[in-house]
Amino acid sequence: EPLIRIQGLRKAYGDGTEALKGVDLDIRRGEILALLGPNGAGKTTLINIVCGIVTATEGQVLVEGRNWQEDFRRVRTRIGLVPQELTTDAFESVRATVSFSRGLFGKPRDDAKVEDILRRLTLWDKRKSEMRELSGGMKRRVMIAKALAHEPDILFLDEPTAGVDVELRRDMWDLVRKLRADGTTVILTTHYIEEAEEMADRVGVIRKGELVALGDKNALMAQM
Ligand code: ADP
Ligand code: ADP
Repeated sequence: EPLIRIQGLRKAYGDGTEALKGVDLDIRRGEILALLGPNGAGKTTLINIVCGIVTATEGQVLVEGRNWQEDFRRVRTRIGLVPQELTTDAFESVRATVSFSRGLFGKPRDDAKVEDILRRLTLWDKRKSEMRELSGGMKRRVMIAKALAHEPDILFLDEPTAGVDVELRRDMWDLVRKLRADGTTVILTTHYIEEAEEMADRVGVIRKGELVALGDKNALMAQM
């Protein structure tokens, strides 16, 4: 049984834009899945639906066989999302940012857990810094720490390396691999083939709202 089963997912936005035209996709437990496609293909819409931020027009999402809408609260706490934009308070400290995010999910305050997450992301030395004092790369790390604060086992990363320099990109790749080694299932979107190739176990290619290819990275790359 797949961890997440996406069936017949369609999304038409209020203005008539058909962002998804019937996507079926199974996500396996423990994998790194890259959703590869150009801007406007529907990648963000897809992950936002699975994360419960956008409502689908048609279709369903099952998590471990159960319809996720019927079990929203339980499923939502298993999911972490790192959106493209920065959603942190410039005047908040790194530690408070992560700690607060944990609280939002109704998890008990646990300073040791927050410390552990900050250390894993090499943010411990920066815990007292305010967000506005950090470099772009560090801010991205905080966004990941924030998404991990409630200890989800499924992590979605929307374009984690868009506009990021080469060094930081490698850093992100290492981070994602570490997360997977810890047992987290990772789904990321990207428009860099190179990134999908480097990071993912499987790659799904999305074009104009459709999943046009899905497969083992090596098999897929050989076709391209
Ligand atoms: P829904 O159908 O899910 O309610 P809407 O079409 O009402 O979505 O749009 C939600 C918001 O996103 C609106 O504020 C809209 O202006 C904005 N929006 C419209 N087009 C785009 C776009 N291409 N990319 C991102 N946001 C958009
Ligand atoms: P990607 O992440 O692959 O760039 P998106 O899911 O952001 O693709 O967008 C898919 C399509 O839906 C695009 O045509 C985009 O302009 C449109 N779109 C995204 N969000 C909205 C919105 N809120 N309202 C209307 N159209 C949107």
